[in-house]
Amino acid sequence: MQITKEEFKKELEQKLDSQFAVDVEHASLGELYSALSNVLRDGYAPNWRETRIKEAHEGKKQVYYFSIEFLPGTLLRSNLLNLGWMDTVKSALKDLGLNLDDIAAKEPDMALGNGGLGRLAAAFMDSLASTGYVGNGNGIRYKYGLFKQKFVNGYQVELPNDWLQKHNHWEVMRDNKSVLVHFGGQVNLVQKDNWMTPEYNGGYSIKAVPYDIPVVGYHTGIVNTMRLWDAEIPESEEINYPTIDDRRKVEDLTSILYPDDSSYSGRLLRLKQEYFFVSAGLQSILRYYTKDLKQNDMHNLPKYVAVHINDTHPAMAVAELMRLLVDEYHIDWDEAWKITVQVMSYTNHTIMAEAMEKWDINMMTQLLPRIMQIITEIDRRYVISLTGKVAESVINDTRIVNNGNVQMAHLAIIGSHSVNGVAPLHTHLLETEVLKEFYELYPERFNNKTNGITLRRWLQIANPKLSKLLDQTVGRDWRTDSAKMLLLQDSYKNAKVLKQINEIKLENKEKLAKFIKKTTGITVDPTAIFDVQIKRLHAYKRQTLKLLHIIKLYHDLKNGIDHPKRVVIFGAKAAPSYTYAKDVIKVINEVANVINNDASIHGKLKVIFLENYDVTLAEKIIPAADVSEQISTTTKEASGTSNMKLMANGALTVATMDGANVDIAKAVGQDNIFIFGLNKDQVYDYYNKHDYKPRDMYNSDQVMKETVDALIDGSFSKAANEGRVLYDSFLQENEEFLVLADFESYLQAQKKIEENWHDQRSWAQKALVNIAHSEEFNADNTVARYAKDIWGLKKLN
Ligand SMILES: *Cc1c(COP(=O)(O)O)cnc(C)c1O
Repeated sequence: MQITKEEFKKELEQKLDSQFAVDVEHASLGELYSALSNVLRDGYAPNWRETRIKEAHEGKKQVYYFSIEFLPGTLLRSNLLNLGWMDTVKSALKDLGLNLDDIAAKEPDMALGNGGLGRLAAAFMDSLASTGYVGNGNGIRYKYGLFKQKFVNGYQVELPNDWLQKHNHWEVMRDNKSVLVHFGGQVNLVQKDNWMTPEYNGGYSIKAVPYDIPVVGYHTGIVNTMRLWDAEIPESEEINYPTIDDRRKVEDLTSILYPDDSSYSGRLLRLKQEYFFVSAGLQSILRYYTKDLKQNDMHNLPKYVAVHINDTHPAMAVAELMRLLVDEYHIDWDEAWKITVQVMSYTNHTIMAEAMEKWDINMMTQLLPRIMQIITEIDRRYVISLTGKVAESVINDTRIVNNGNVQMAHLAIIGSHSVNGVAPLHTHLLETEVLKEFYELYPERFNNKTNGITLRRWLQIANPKLSKLLDQTVGRDWRTDSAKMLLLQDSYKNAKVLKQINEIKLENKEKLAKFIKKTTGITVDPTAIFDVQIKRLHAYKRQTLKLLHIIKLYHDLKNGIDHPKRVVIFGAKAAPSYTYAKDVIKVINEVANVINNDASIHGKLKVIFLENYDVTLAEKIIPAADVSEQISTTTKEASGTSNMKLMANGALTVATMDGANVDIAKAVGQDNIFIFGLNKDQVYDYYNKHDYKPRDMYNSDQVMKETVDALIDGSFSKAANEGRVLYDSFLQENEEFLVLADFESYLQAQKKIEENWHDQRSWAQKALVNIAHSEEFNADNTVARYAKDIWGLKKLN
């Protein structure tokens, strides 16, 4: 539905009047945000209704993307863009003396996730709707999102992120679609009507209430649904929860995103969350299948339903669907198993051993007795099916229940028809190292689906100026057909386009510089190299290597060795219980303090650690980046997606040959990226031969020694203890992330960056190549590959 400027103004005025009894002139930005989002709701509501009717009418297969994280950021501007209202609304607001960005800033960021995994889930939602598929999200409506990060004396402090406090304008609560999820008690199987039927003794039920968030497709008229579940006390059981405290204990189930997993009660809560959203999601899928689609044969379920398990957190979907099919619909076990495997598919997101999720059998038996019985039976049959066919060690390594634990990845793999990695190197490592034994058992299940990004958000919304330049050079079609971005290559020698690329970057940097000034008080020069590392804080991502480079630059500047002006910008949250990551934050902040206040280097180097990295902050930083730091230890980063967002905005990448960096390098060519560091074979050699000797490197390399020593020699005295922790970690022989091994090679790559920076025309050419080739990472195409190869979806008519 389109809208004219005049219609929009009238609607806005009406909403302001009916909601707040104010006129435009007297409305606050918060009131304007609320009214504007309500006008938008009226705009897409008919499409949302019609999409649901169409879905039921056409009966096309649908995917349900189960994810414990969704990281959509904010939705106002993306809904405006996708509905086709952006230009009209911007211009109408301008007429009224208002600015869309100021109003949009009032929307709380939906940070229902931690990083790349949740961001990918949100990107896929947008892409499904924007390319014409029916795709549903299934997750948890956390009352508090990922914590709000503040720095106090250089230390990370975590504050609650009360994002729902001011009301979520997009969500619709659908109480009539609620379901009950059962926990605890005991289960006995009794023969009833010729069927082994579970009888539950004790335990309790929690009401799962869905909150639906519309996912507006880009110019498709399709509005899909992201369904997030909240926990309530069932009406029938209210009497058992007489006090507010009792109530809160139940409702706490969906309070926080990452319960503290260092305590038993924290882990139990997490397990509860996982089962809660999985069970609620599957129950509502089967209800839709039987009631709305009027299907009564469960054997046809795979023709209508695909359930995707995003990382292992929703892996219990395998057991829960078995429970529903066998216990509720009386399908024979073997038949139910076939159906389940055809419905389920699984994405692995990491090879990091500590991220391989497992649950204690006793905990599971207490909380989910029937699910534990079913998992035990799946495991028993799995073992029988392989006994005598493969080595016993293979069975032991791959079975689901082992050493008192339930291995969630094993459950997901055995219960799915598809297992995918998220970049070619990652998938290769799954097949040859991490999941080798599974790959040999089920080679046909394994496939690669390289991650992607929503170019709409990262270019059209975050960088309107660059988007406009693309319009002028390659035509507007790139907005729906990203392959058209490759036409930008034709302007490789076009002086005017190259100049515009540099001018746009400078304007974006000026804007970020203002933001930095406002939030940190620090002045940065927009003409300096803006060198950006934004991602979760983790040892494998090696913010530490960037830190060592900073110290080296600082030493040079103090010693009269010149470098181009540089502003290093970090954004990163550390998991609350991850002390090493928090130590890294403290050290970076104190190093930044010393450098930013040292007048002797004449502002040649600035280090800015922006607080509270989230999607909203990413949208501010990425368009202003000159250099994209993708410096993880090779083999450790499954894909990475900030690497893609940054290249799309014309930043040049400095990277190890890890994750999707490999694919970026292939796309842009060696001349347009700065590659350094150990390759995967060298990394595995160190691991296999146990011959990494960082202390020898340190003793034989004077520059390295001086750089690392600065962490403990009093140069950064306010982080003496934390500096010592880093120092010790670098020099340990079992230092898994090989920071010092890549130090020298990283310095070389940075030197090359400096040399290239001097030639701004050639720099712009490299940026142009990167922008053009970012089309390869368009999530619309990623989703099309999932739809075809894994889910078997057809587009809505
Ligand atoms: C894209 C994105 C990530 C993922 O970054 P990586 O560098 O790929 O780890 C994490 N957090 C936010 C807010 C993002 O937008």
